[in-house]
Parts: sequence; structure tokens; C-alpha cells
Amino acid sequence: MDQILQYIRGHRRQHLAQLFDLLRIPSVSTLPERAEDVKRCAQFLADDLQAMGMRNVNVMSTNGHPAVYAEWLEAPDAPTILIYGHYDVQPPDPLDLWESPPFDPQIRDGEIYARGSADDKGQAFAYFKAIEAYLSKKGSLPVNVKLLIEGEEEIGSAHTHKFVYDHLTLLQADAILLSDNSMFARGIPAICCGTRGLVACQIELESAARDLHSGAFGGVAENPIQVLADILSALKDDDERITIPGFYDDVLELSAEERQYFAGLPFDGEALQQEIGVRGFVGEKGFTPVEREWARPALDINGILGGFTGPGAKTIIPAKAMAKITMRLVSKQNPDKILQAAKDYISSLAPESVKLSFSGDAGGTAYLTPLDHPVLKHVAKAVRQSYGREPLFTRTGGSIGILSTFSDALRIPIAMVGLSYPDDNIHAPNEHLAEEAYYSGIETAARLFNELKNWDPGAAS
Ligand SMILES: [Zn+2]
Repeated sequence: MDQILQYIRGHRRQHLAQLFDLLRIPSVSTLPERAEDVKRCAQFLADDLQAMGMRNVNVMSTNGHPAVYAEWLEAPDAPTILIYGHYDVQPPDPLDLWESPPFDPQIRDGEIYARGSADDKGQAFAYFKAIEAYLSKKGSLPVNVKLLIEGEEEIGSAHTHKFVYDHLTLLQADAILLSDNSMFARGIPAICCGTRGLVACQIELESAARDLHSGAFGGVAENPIQVLADILSALKDDDERITIPGFYDDVLELSAEERQYFAGLPFDGEALQQEIGVRGFVGEKGFTPVEREWARPALDINGILGGFTGPGAKTIIPAKAMAKITMRLVSKQNPDKILQAAKDYISSLAPESVKLSFSGDAGGTAYLTPLDHPVLKHVAKAVRQSYGREPLFTRTGGSIGILSTFSDALRIPIAMVGLSYPDDNIHAPNEHLAEEAYYSGIETAARLFNELKNWDPGAAS
């Protein structure tokens, strides 16, 4: 390990220069005019992997932007780790808020400013440089490594889901490791073990052929906004529990150990309330805010539309009303089942006086690597060695579609090890990654490889 760390510390200048070259490529996946840059970025990564001696390096076409694949499978007694990352980035707009151009990386106060520095080029590239260190110093890796770096994460991994199902054998591994998230706080490393799933739906109500005069029809004709309000308010009870029949049937309940662990995390609710400007937290009775965000499902009305909202008064009964709703799901809720249950329940709530149109999209399942999964012990050990303190085990309330697909398709544990700091401005102007976080990230990746060789995926947990 010392030799490897020595190599990494001795090559900081080169590793930084290479990251800068990577950050200079404007691989914005959502912009059609950047398609050539996206392709160029994939080739840049493939060339680097080829040069360091990875095998089977391939820029693989999908029905969208290509994915970069490489492997090294010459450690017969060690587990196989699939490293996932993405090389595409968010658009840099609004440009005038950047203090330096988004694709001209610059260091200020120890921070590398560039689009993609933290999300996810800098973090993904840390694994590249750790692999390079091993292959150049030892000619081998401690574990078998497969690497998949996609080019469509920022557009919902549009074609990557199908790509995964089309390449199940190629991608089969014992665990997935990725760094597309941040630490808990500067200096407090975290291993994120779960995300929530997502279901989205839209309700449209129509009660008349056109808006009606409220003098002529008030008290006589149905008002779809009133009906919509009734339906929406019936979706939760007084304890803020979601009333859709069967909604909680498959929810994996928190264990006493997990609840105790979450309660001990340094979560500052008041600071967070102040930061986001809310008067307090709400939510399902009987659970803490952390539990509600990470381990309980939620239903939110995202938008509502109907009637007259201009200045002054207009005496109408609107003909239409609509609302958009999303639900965050937890392990082991099934998105298709939940979408159907929501449709059935909402249909049952709509009176004869309105025509209901319901549409929806089952976005993805939640994934969860249980806290007591043996692989986490090894991941935590490597992270502890790297940062000199115990990592926290966290989850995120958000949804990462491709992780649901990995979890469903490959059925192996996933660990997200945040290498960047939480204030890194991802998706926003002045995105940055601490230079120190990049270097320590490379060392962390190397330590992860070194430690995961001691994990026996076949052993009973
Ligand atoms: Zn990302």
C-alpha cells in the first residue's frame, strides 16, 4: 500500500493536469450541439484507460451517448467490483454567474472550479488514477475491476437502463462502488447505502364543456377545483400517513438498530430549517425528520392549475383543474403496484360529476444496502484509513434511476462513497471540487481496492 500511496502522492501534478484536460471537454449530454464533445470525452477516458493497461477498453454505443467500459479480471481469488460513474455534465447556465469560465478549470483557494469537477468527472477520475497507480507500480490490481462510465446520467440515464439489461453478463460483479455524492460534511466521510424510488402522476378533472358563469351556475354546477382539493386532501390522514390502500404493505420497516443509529447522526434540524427558510418540519407521525427523508415514503403535490388567478375578480366556475403528484418510495415498494394503487384510489375518490384523466410514470425502485451487509465493513475500513475517522452510514431521500436499475438487474450491493464536500455547487454556477478532496479521493479509491480483496462475497453474512 505504501508504494501505491507514494506513487499517488508523487503524481499529483500529472493527475491534476489530466483532470483539467477532462474538465475542458464540455460534455453536456442534454445539448444536441455538444454531442461531438460528449463523444470526444468518452474517447479521452478510453484512451487513458488503454494507456494505463486496462483490458477490453471499449467506447460502447447505446441508443444515445456512448458508455465507456474497461475491465481488469486477473485476480482469481478476489471479488469483482463494478465501478460506476458518469462523464456527462449539466449545462453551465447561467453563464454570467460563473467567476471563471465553466470549461476552463481554475484553482482558487484550493478549489478546482469547473463544471463537472465534483459531479462527476473529478470523483470518477479518482478511481482511474488509483487503478493507474496499481497497474504502473505492481502491474496488477488487488481485486477484479469492471468500470462503467456513462454519458447520460444528467438526462436520467436515458439509454443506460436498457444498456445494463443488454449487458448483464458483461456487468456482473459482486458489488458496485461509486462516488457521485458528497461527504456528510468537510472531514466527515459518509457511505450512502440507500436511495428512494420515484413514481410521478398527473390528475386532470373536467366538469363542463367550458367555464361557467358563477351567478348562473354557482351552487348548481360542479367545481373541479373543489373536487381536486377534496381528492388531494384525502390522500393523507391526520397523522400525515398516505391513505392509498396498500401503500405501506411492502415498506421495509426500520430496525431498532437503524433508528438508534440515525438518531445518533450529527443532524442539525434547526440549522437546516433556517437555511431553507421553513417554520418547522412536518411529516408522518412517529418518525424523525431523518427517518422520514431516508426511510419512509412520501407523497408531494408538485403543482396545481385551474381557474382564474389574474388581478381582480372573475365570476366563473372553471371547467378544468389539474395537479401533479410525485411519490418517493422506499425499499421494497414496487413502483408499478403503487402507481396502480394510486390510480384506483384517486378514481374512487372522484365523483360522477367530473371526468377524471389519470396518467403516470413508475420511475424506479428504491435501493438499499442493509447496514449489516458485510461489504460495508470493508468499505468503511478503507474510508476510515483514508480520512482518519469513522465514516457515517447515510441514505439519501433522492432517487438515482440507474442505481435502481443496477439493483434490480444485477442484484448486488451498492455503496456510494462521497469524495467531494457538500458545498460543491453541483448543477449550479461555480461548481467546485477541493483539490485536496481529489487527491484524497484517489487514495481512498486505492485503499478501497486494497481492502475489498479481503471481502469474501460467498461467505454467509
Ligand atoms: Zn452526478
